Amino acid sequence: MSLVIVGTVAFDAIETPFGKTDKILGGAATFISMAAAKLYDQVKVISVIGGDFPDEYITLLNDQGVQTEGIKKIPEGKTFFWSGKYHIDMNTRDTLITELNVLADFDPQVPASYNDCTYLMLGNLTPSIQKKVINQLPVRPKLIVMDTMNFWMNTAMDDLKDVLTMVDVLTINDEEARQLSNEYSLVKAARKILSMGPKFLIIKKGDHGALLFHEDKVFFAPAMPLEEVFDPTGAGDTFAGGFIGFLAKTDDISFDNMKRAIIFGSAMASFAVEKFGTEALQELKNGTLYNRVQQFLSLVKFDIILSE
Ligand code: AMP
Repeated sequence: MSLVIVGTVAFDAIETPFGKTDKILGGAATFISMAAAKLYDQVKVISVIGGDFPDEYITLLNDQGVQTEGIKKIPEGKTFFWSGKYHIDMNTRDTLITELNVLADFDPQVPASYNDCTYLMLGNLTPSIQKKVINQLPVRPKLIVMDTMNFWMNTAMDDLKDVLTMVDVLTINDEEARQLSNEYSLVKAARKILSMGPKFLIIKKGDHGALLFHEDKVFFAPAMPLEEVFDPTGAGDTFAGGFIGFLAKTDDISFDNMKRAIIFGSAMASFAVEKFGTEALQELKNGTLYNRVQQFLSLVKFDIILSE
């Protein structure tokens, strides 16, 4: 049994109101796998990197408990590069640069050692690559979770809708949910998106928490109110990693367990934003994570006696 994660392993350059970085380690699969590996010990990544990607970063992932046999290196190519700038409210950002580089021609090959995949996380990358990975697995995983973003809605909407018919859970942010459904109301958007394929939909709302939709049920998890938000990059991916890592660990895909998984995802994401890039995740220990999950419980727990 294992959790396979497909997504970008990348260089990011980030600017926030609190500072600026040169090229640092980033990418959807990087954040997802590092977060998931805090909770589950069989985490395997599929991605592509160029000859410019330092070996130390692969060692770092391995030290975090992430298996990297499925990360293909193209020595003559350049690694995917993304650059973004955040505004003062930190919930909105501008993408300044997206250089696909080696991602443009990536033809994923799932290693035989990944054939025991029970949980599949399709992190943000080209929808046609997400589909190729699903089709290469000998047995359909117990759960397929997919993430995507507006970039792919703008450049590959048909492929994206095709992959949507093959997955169980979709995680996107509120702006993307509106773009995908053409609806402003998130409740109407959810209804439309649930008719496109996925049985569960998670809408991430940055520091306003996350909503889980399934059939006619809705669950809401807040985000932890934090004193310092330094860099939101990767928060959504870290959330997804915590979510699917928890499901793989507990091996229970019921709606009730997904509620718990969302709290773990939110707790995990609350650390990611406290430092630049993957720094906070690298340092995160399980005890600290469980303490924050506990804080989440007190944040939302209240007693009330209702009388007419
Ligand atoms: P998040 O902040 O969770 O939305 O994820 C940010 C991460 O997504 C960064 O580390 C980027 O490298 C990666 N990323 C940005 N744009 C794309 C894209 N079009 N496809 C795949 N990954 C991307």
